[in-house]
Amino acid sequence: MSGMVSLHLRTPLLESTPLSRVAGSEVWLKMEAMQPCGSFKLRGIGRACSHHVARGVQGLVSSSGGNAGIAVAYCGRKLGLPVTVVVPLSTPERAQEMIRGEQAEVIVSGESWQEAHGHAQSLCGPDRVLIHPFDDPLLWEGHATLIDEAARSGLRPDAVLLSVGGGGLLCGVLEGLHNNGMADVPVLAMETRGAASLGVSLAAGRHLELERIATVATSLGAKKVAARAWEWCGRHNVTSSSVSDLEAVESCLRFAADHRVLVEPACGASLAAVYGRHPFLRDKKRILLVVCGGVGVSFEQLLEWKQNLDREGP
Ligand SMILES: *Cc1c(COP(=O)(O)O)cnc(C)c1O
Repeated sequence: MSGMVSLHLRTPLLESTPLSRVAGSEVWLKMEAMQPCGSFKLRGIGRACSHHVARGVQGLVSSSGGNAGIAVAYCGRKLGLPVTVVVPLSTPERAQEMIRGEQAEVIVSGESWQEAHGHAQSLCGPDRVLIHPFDDPLLWEGHATLIDEAARSGLRPDAVLLSVGGGGLLCGVLEGLHNNGMADVPVLAMETRGAASLGVSLAAGRHLELERIATVATSLGAKKVAARAWEWCGRHNVTSSSVSDLEAVESCLRFAADHRVLVEPACGASLAAVYGRHPFLRDKKRILLVVCGGVGVSFEQLLEWKQNLDREGP
């Protein structure tokens, strides 16, 4: 990839004393929360944006009001290309501000992500491309670099633990494992119960679409995982599991206390597997946990979610 700009950073790989103590084994954290845009998304989106710039496109479009939209905006600013992010009405003002902070134009359109996405598609043409938040081979190639880095550090895990929304991260991590001679390393794929598009599909043995999303882990809110993610599950040892929103949020709070880092409940779903001593991890000696991160969080917001979820009960 000579001449291609790399927009993401190499992230720290930490052996976590507090999480290792809970798990009774080594837990290694790949700290994607430390990326400039706060999540692993920059790896894949940076890869896709650089690719399109190299072939001469004049503008970038995104349909995500979350971490993907922020990453596209950041990449556009770094690469000197105008970016338009179309977000649904439900997108918090704070998220819109972060996108504008990266000098992108924000268009608020539609009740749902599908409607915003439709609008975003209508803005595209030969020299203005839409960067998909999870379903794009260029994205997976970029996400795979996090496994390249872990492998280069000499880590050979006997399990990888990550969160699944649309499955872009899963596709990238699996690609990375296969590229680095770790095709036999099992993966635990975590979701929250209100966004279990992969879990529901695996349980039914069919690639299903959820009717609705109901979770505070909005970054996991894809109704259907990418076809490629579904196919991967047929040829790699992937175990799917889910936790409640309360477990995800409490895990974020515990992680903040343990590591002084804030992450979204989307990431808390993975942390909950360790804090909740998931049976899958019982016989594993060296676990690689992808701390996927996310900017849609504050300490006050975590406390508020916890309060509301405590009140609702299980
Ligand atoms: C996007 C995102 C996910 C889910 O990734 P997919 O590629 O959609 O599966 C998880 N956590 C965070 C913080 C994200 O931004």
